[in-house]
Amino acid sequence: MGCHHRWQLLNYNNNLYRFGIDNNFTYICNKTSSMGITLQISIVIFMAIVAIILRIYHARIIGYWGEKKTVTLLSFLNEKYKVYNDVLIPRSNGTSQIDHIVVSPYGIFVIETKNYKGWIFGSPNSYKWTQNIYGKKYELYNPITHNIGHITALKRLIPGHEDYFISIIVFSMHASLKTNIDKEYNVIKSWELISKIRSYKKEVLLENDISEICSKIEQFRIIDKESKKEHVRRTKEESNRKKHSVQNGICPICGATIVRRTGKYGSFYGCSNYPKCKFTAKTLS
Ligand SMILES: [Zn+2]
Repeated sequence: MGCHHRWQLLNYNNNLYRFGIDNNFTYICNKTSSMGITLQISIVIFMAIVAIILRIYHARIIGYWGEKKTVTLLSFLNEKYKVYNDVLIPRSNGTSQIDHIVVSPYGIFVIETKNYKGWIFGSPNSYKWTQNIYGKKYELYNPITHNIGHITALKRLIPGHEDYFISIIVFSMHASLKTNIDKEYNVIKSWELISKIRSYKKEVLLENDISEICSKIEQFRIIDKESKKEHVRRTKEESNRKKHSVQNGICPICGATIVRRTGKYGSFYGCSNYPKCKFTAKTLS
């Protein structure tokens, strides 16, 4: 292939290659085609490396871009909305990472982003939700209760505005929500985010409140890298602790024993402390 094509290119660059085409053309042509092979091999190797990296860091890369996207979406809001991304806050037992906080006259939006593909099953009260992707099932923590935890922590840090926190859970466009959840829980797809935020039209916070809230957020948010690393480590530890607890038949929320129950949709595991504690799980593994 290469040679004929390059011949035309050389003709096109007539001025440069006019001299010595007879003598040098074969040389140039051979040289370029051997370069072509090297280039092709390099491209194959490069793509193989990219494929390996994607395999290993898939979740992290998807997470990164998913978050970027919400950041981009939120940048479409006007100056009435003050946006904070990736906010790490102190808690009694460590730290919490909040994807986005939007402070506005209409309330304080606390946004949790979930970048899951496939079918998502869950209900507002269940401890875990399920992701079904190509027939394989994975569990995820209930994002509604997870975000309520964030809001509880924020209410402690920003007292006096307890009634104006609004939770929003955003799933990426790749997720198909098979949930039967009331609208009030604000579990939405990414393209609905801006209209959801704008749908709150009642002004509930004054300019003074807003600047007070913003300066509080700026005060308490943790921005140094060491603390961020520490947060990741603790989160891993915490999720392992919960997992072990469930494996041993102990409720990770209240410490009571887990019992097998039968409900509308078949059998499941639940906390013996029900209805005080609403912990449930499909399996104990
Ligand atoms: Zn319990």
